[in-house]
Parts: sequence; structure tokens; C-alpha cells
Amino acid sequence: MSKIIENFLIPLFVIVSVLYAFNSFGHAIELNKAYHHITNEPGYLERANISFYFSRDPQVQEIKNKNTNAHTITFFFPDVSIAQGECEAMIKRISNQHNGYSVAITPVIKPTKGVKLAFNFDPAQCSLGYETFDSIGLQKGIVFRLYNKNVLTSIQNNNNQPVLRTLWWQPDGASAKTGHKDKKPNIVIDAGHGGSDSGAIGCGGIQEKQVCLAIGTAVGSLLKQKGCSVLLTRTNDCDMQLDERTAYANDNNADLFVSIHANYAANPRAIGIETFCMQPALLKKNFSCLTSSQDACIANIINQRAALSYQLAQSVQSSVCNSVSSFHDVTIDRIDRKVKHSVSQVLLGAQEPAILIEVGFLSHPKESLLLHDTHYQNSIAHGICNGILSILQF
Ligand SMILES: [Zn+2]
Repeated sequence: MSKIIENFLIPLFVIVSVLYAFNSFGHAIELNKAYHHITNEPGYLERANISFYFSRDPQVQEIKNKNTNAHTITFFFPDVSIAQGECEAMIKRISNQHNGYSVAITPVIKPTKGVKLAFNFDPAQCSLGYETFDSIGLQKGIVFRLYNKNVLTSIQNNNNQPVLRTLWWQPDGASAKTGHKDKKPNIVIDAGHGGSDSGAIGCGGIQEKQVCLAIGTAVGSLLKQKGCSVLLTRTNDCDMQLDERTAYANDNNADLFVSIHANYAANPRAIGIETFCMQPALLKKNFSCLTSSQDACIANIINQRAALSYQLAQSVQSSVCNSVSSFHDVTIDRIDRKVKHSVSQVLLGAQEPAILIEVGFLSHPKESLLLHDTHYQNSIAHGICNGILSILQF
């Protein structure tokens, strides 16, 4: 009998347990984060975008509504569960907000376990599409965009010329057309992290949120001295969600959005500056309620915004590297980590050309000390300011 247990029943038990564990692992998809970027300003392309981050690629099923005049579009994510804690709070926040539409996110147990997502809006005012992407943290992302139909119509009526105010300062005469010729450029500076979110902690205990605020404040003062209109997402050590930062920029008619962060790496030799911007190719369109000509119009706007973001990123990156090179004992090539493309949440929500600069590594002993130093912080701030001004031709 003991031989049967040893040779047959125990291995069978092990195989069944492994298969069971593998099977449950295979099905468990967690919804880890959810953001809601609202735009109240009527001149922008999007009324809102709502992004979700999952532990693995989820399936997305559209639940067809037989009523063609229905104002509700519903999706279902089978086998997805909402992560407890922070994500539940994020979802509650989304469901409580309205901007001429509403979004409801509900966990479902029967008949199939999953998460239901329902959008309710007036199809005469808004339209919906979604895209999928891989995030920096290797999560699977989905962004649902509620497009502003009035903006789309006015662009199409204007032979697909962008009428977005974000493009007013272009040197091709678009500024004259949109009547913003004499307007000061409106720049939003976003000092990363804050409050309970310290960001990375550097050598000697310096916190990323402190570095970001010091540099961000200095950039703001410099730009104001040069005649720009400047808004800071935070001026003190307060908590601020990523979607609140872009909502602030969008609602204040920002022309440019610049987010300031400091880096951290496991390798203590990692050093230097890098600037991120979005590239449309990083997002894959999966669903759209729009006509193909409206989709083409949106692609045109997004491509123009991305091209301006890239131009801004290049300008700021090279200006900052030149500005700080004299502080370093390594060559500028080592400091210049170049412009990189990524889908980061704060860039995804910005309706204006937007960049995120990582001003240095808090994990590098020497660079961390520099980032603590007021002269070095001011040198970075001058670099960022000059990079912005040179693209504005202001
Ligand atoms: Zn950061």
C-alpha cells in the first residue's frame, strides 16, 4: 500500500496541484491602476481619456446594444479582477466624476467573472475610441478616449487644418489664423511627486519630490522673467494625482506641458539626463465609433502634437546637457542619454505638446550630490528654460 502511495498517489497529487496552480495563474488578470484625465476646455480634441493598467493583456468584449440610439457603450473584461486598495479608490474617483458623460466600472461575478465598463454620453457631442499599449512598468495599458465632436467638425470644416490652440505659436502662420498672435505662451511646469509620494530617495537621503520642486520653481521664475505665462502644478509639498496634473494644464489652456523628475537605477554607475515624449506608433488603435475621415483627422492632430513634443524634447535635452556639462568630470556624451519615446501616464493625459525630463540619477553618488546643490539645480533650470524658449521662437 505504501508503495502505491509513494509511486502513484503522491506524484499524481503533485501533478494535479501544479496544474491547478498553473490554471489559476493563467486566469488571474488584475486591474492595477485607473486614471481619468478630464478636459473641461472646449477647444481640445478630447473631453476625457480614461486609462487602465492590467497585470496581463486582457480580452476586451464590446457588449452590443440593440438600440441604435443608445447613449451607452459597454465593454466587458473577462477574468479581470480589481486590485484591492489603491485601485479601488482610483475607480471610485472615476465613477464619481462627470463632464457631460459618465463612466461606470463594476466588478461582475455571474455569469462570468470580470469587470464591466459602461460609458454614457450624447453621441451628438462625443465619440469613443480605444487604444492599447505597453507601459514603462511592463503593464498592459488601455486608453479610452472620449473625443469632442465639435472640435473634430470645426477642424474638418477648416480643410483639416488644426484649430487647436496648442498650435498657435507655430511659425507657419497658424497663429495668425487662430487669432492668438499676441498671446503669451502659456506653459505648465509640473514638479513630479509630492506629499506622501516622495519619489526616489537618493544618496544622502535627498528625495526626488524636493529636487523636482526646486528645479520646477526655478524654471517657472525664469520663464516669467522672459515674458511667458507660467503655471506650476504644485508650489509646495502636496499630494497630486497624475490625472489632476494634466487636468490642471488642459483646463488652463496650456500650450506646453513640461514634467520634471529625477531618475533612479539599480546600477549606481547610471548617470545623466534623458527626456521622454510620446510617439503615436506606441499606441495601437483597437476600437473606434468614428468615421474613417474623422479617425484620419484625429491621427493628423495626434501626429502634429507628437512632432511638436519631439521637437521640444530635443531642444530641452540638448540645452540642459550643455548647461550642466561644466559641473561633470565625464564627457557630455555620457551625460546625454538622449530623447526617448514612452507611454507615460502624465504624457498620455496632456492635450498639448508634452515632455517629461529626468534630470539625473539620485542613485549615482556624485550626481545625487549635484542634484542637491542649488547652483546645479539652477543650471538645469536655465537649460530647461532656454530649451523651451528656443522652440517657441519667443
Ligand atoms: Zn519620478
